[in-house]
Amino acid sequence: MGEIEDKKIIRDHTFKTWSKQKGWDPIIVSSAKGVYFYDVEGKKYLDFSSQFVNVNLGYGNERVINSIKEQLDRLQYINPSFGADIRVKATKALLKVMPRNISKFFYSTSGTEANEAAIKISRFYKKPRYKILARYRSYHGSTEGSISLTGDYRRWFVEPNTMNGVVRIPEPYCFRCPLKLKYPDCGIACATYVDYVIRQEKNVAAMIIEPITGTNGVIVPPKEYMPLIRKIAKENDVLFIADEVMTGWGRVGEWFAVNLWDIHPDILTTAKGASASYVPIGITGVSKEIGEFFEDEVFAHGHTFEAHPVSLSAIPAVIEEYERLNILSHVKVMGDYLGKRLQELKERHRSIGDVRGVGLFWAIELVKDKNNTPFGGYDDKYEGYTTFVDVLARRLLIEKNTYVYNGPSWFIISPPLIINKEEIDEGVDAIDDILKEADKEFNN
Ligand code: PMP
Repeated sequence: MGEIEDKKIIRDHTFKTWSKQKGWDPIIVSSAKGVYFYDVEGKKYLDFSSQFVNVNLGYGNERVINSIKEQLDRLQYINPSFGADIRVKATKALLKVMPRNISKFFYSTSGTEANEAAIKISRFYKKPRYKILARYRSYHGSTEGSISLTGDYRRWFVEPNTMNGVVRIPEPYCFRCPLKLKYPDCGIACATYVDYVIRQEKNVAAMIIEPITGTNGVIVPPKEYMPLIRKIAKENDVLFIADEVMTGWGRVGEWFAVNLWDIHPDILTTAKGASASYVPIGITGVSKEIGEFFEDEVFAHGHTFEAHPVSLSAIPAVIEEYERLNILSHVKVMGDYLGKRLQELKERHRSIGDVRGVGLFWAIELVKDKNNTPFGGYDDKYEGYTTFVDVLARRLLIEKNTYVYNGPSWFIISPPLIINKEEIDEGVDAIDDILKEADKEFNN
């Protein structure tokens, strides 16, 4: 009775996001530890996706929790025109792990806000240029500016009243090449075409790129893509914004995904793993040149909760934990193991069209026939937006006690970075089982 009443409060008095409200049946969660969380009935779930790819250090890390508590006890708030001592500590810690050219930070409370700040900074810095290039398969946030950059189905809900000046470019999605070409004969046309777009459009201030596309299916670019598109930005004097909200903080076995190609963005945005989700945080990091530009220009931006001491207190604490636990090497080892196990699944299930990933960041893309037809999403109308893969993910949760974050046609496998082999096996076995259902849907 209690649980039903609680569900009703949540359902009737709070919003379910990205969805019609009807039919929502939330599981009420009350505690968590390690890579598991528990509902009010005591049922245990494996978190095989770190929620929205953000609970990087798992649950209940006492060192991080104690740092945050200590900050709360000492100084819970001071407005950002003051220089809180924790801001010094957090900034020093960040400077050590960020790409070396990124040297000035704006602190907010989400990835969305980090990208909003990046849009404004680019437009101030490059004025009167104002256009921003963004890819179709991308997610950059939910507010008016960041949703306009977002290229996936979510933008369909808000068009046409979005921010002006967004120009779409294709993504390096070899499994379903938007240009209908084949790697490597394609000559990485999805990147070289961007050079043409910039010259035709003029007035381009920046391009925003998820180094590995996240929510839209963990799209790992071919090795030439990132160095090439970075070069094209530079040659055209266009700012390169790396959106590392999802890919940062050890997820791919490096502090940031740009390190995989030794690339230096002009702006780097991040959130999620920056606090390992113990408190809300967003970070917009800019190069020295951009930072210096604002010496004589008004930085016309800010929030009450910007540089919040409690948010900042998580940064040095999680960096210490990533180092103490040797997370980058652990991710490489566990990532190889997870990748191997997922590739094995591909051999066994005809409904798997593609398996791709790096580190502890993987996607299994499901297909419903031998032509690789997706189960839903991009070609569907957004009304009634629930695909077979959504249903499978729900069954995985209820029947197999395994939480996996999914898109319209794919599962995102991105466990907490502290996961061990036995826990990986547990998650992969649950997916293996549920995929038998997907195989039944497959038409030859
Ligand atoms: N950019 C990327 C690449 C993301 O994955 C997300 C969140 N999934 C965001 C921006 C927005 O971050 P937030 O949800 O913290 O606002």
